[in-house]
Amino acid sequence: MEPSNAKSGKYVCSECGLTYKEDEWMKKCEAWCKKYKSCNLEIISHAVEN
Ligand SMILES: [Zn+2]
Repeated sequence: MEPSNAKSGKYVCSECGLTYKEDEWMKKCEAWCKKYKSCNLEIISHAVEN
């Protein structure tokens, strides 16, 4: 939903701030973060370094 993220080809979870190359994983991360207020190792393993 944030053009600035899509433009750079990176997707940032608005909840935890982790960066993903695919919006699919970012959305999964955001959904998880909002629901559980914690990180899912399987999801964050898809995060990329800044
Ligand atoms: Zn997150």
